[in-house]
Amino acid sequence: MGECDHSTNDIPVPFAQRPIIILGAGIIGCAAARQLLLKGFEVNLVAEFLPGDQDIHYASAWAGAAWHAAGGITPDQRYIQAVTHRILLQMAREPESGVSVVDAREYLEQEPIPNSALWGKTVVSKFRNLSPEQYPSEFACAWAYETLVTDPTRHMPYLKRQIQMLGGHFIRRKVDSLHELYDMFPDSRIFINASGLGSKTLADVLDDRCFPERGQNVFLRTDRCLTMYFRNGQEYTYVIPRPHSGGVVLGGVKQQDNLSPDVDLEIARDEIARAHRLAPDIVPANPPESAISHIIGIRPSRKGGFRLDSEVQGSRTLLSAYGFGGGGYAFSYGVAEALVKMVEQAERDNVIV
Ligand SMILES: Cc1cc2nc3c(=O)[nH]c(=O)nc-3n(C[C@H](O)[C@H](O)[C@H](O)COP(=O)(O)OP(=O)(O)OC[C@H]3O[C@@H](n4cnc5c(N)ncnc54)[C@H](O)[C@@H]3O)c2cc1C
Repeated sequence: MGECDHSTNDIPVPFAQRPIIILGAGIIGCAAARQLLLKGFEVNLVAEFLPGDQDIHYASAWAGAAWHAAGGITPDQRYIQAVTHRILLQMAREPESGVSVVDAREYLEQEPIPNSALWGKTVVSKFRNLSPEQYPSEFACAWAYETLVTDPTRHMPYLKRQIQMLGGHFIRRKVDSLHELYDMFPDSRIFINASGLGSKTLADVLDDRCFPERGQNVFLRTDRCLTMYFRNGQEYTYVIPRPHSGGVVLGGVKQQDNLSPDVDLEIARDEIARAHRLAPDIVPANPPESAISHIIGIRPSRKGGFRLDSEVQGSRTLLSAYGFGGGGYAFSYGVAEALVKMVEQAERDNVIV
């Protein structure tokens, strides 16, 4: 057949109109879907768990979820967090998004080391160093600033509604491999793997750097829920406000390769005691049982950090975005924007001939 074959059979779908397929509907897959749809791309999401589900393996249902600058990351990764902050700040104007602006107080057991989380002061509002009389004497230094918290019980359903309103489609299905996904969408050329811990077991990914990291938090109902407390150091502890749910999340703990769905009361008691030491004005030493519930989720962690890259596989482009461990919300929308740029690059490479 020559270039001027005018037969009408099997007219291929123009590249630019082939739906982008996302595997995974956690915060990473859904944020990517929203940002792509806002740019006019067609998007289908395929996932075993969808927004609103509550399975411990669906990390996005259980996050704190605070925007907290990460230490020990690259300049590009800092920028991804900064973009996330910008987009979340805009969303905080809509109460139904579940995103809120809160005050934060961060206490450090030791002076910050090089490449610490201090870079975050270039992004957050009202950053100030506290003077020694403004924080407990056991700490080396302390900061205060405004930050953003996202209530996942509100945000994930909000994202689902936004994606559907913009024309995105959710398909509930567990796949065993990316090839199973490719077979489901033979017209599509761009696929995004946002499967979190799924990348450990997908037959054609088998990323052995991925590992589960269990988190267990206490949710305390209280109306004192407008200030975040963060203790940096050996006794890593946080009190994350959830104004839309009328309470605070007390944590944290990280248990590698532990998949237990059962509440460990020892951990819960320890978290309450640590949170009480950190924020006695919010967390009483012995809160009533009736004010407490428990949150258990498995973080999709990855040795060496998350993957965010693009590779050409024959006629397809595969973008990988997984392994966000304890920071998926703080990186979410910045990752989504980076994925949009990668999709646009792949589109450009295929439409400019
Ligand atoms: C207790 C706790 C506290 C946390 N606190 C914070 C915080 O304060 N700030 C913060 O930024 N982050 C926090 N996190 C981390 C955050 O929750 C995760 O980083 C984030 O949710 C990861 O999102 P994800 O979309 O990559 O993965 P997930 O939410 O796990 O979603 C993975 C998706 O892929 C799908 N999938 C996987 N495999 C397959 C398959 N084979 N077939 C079909 N579908 C598949 C799943 O069904 C799901 O839809 C916390 C996590 C926990 C558990």
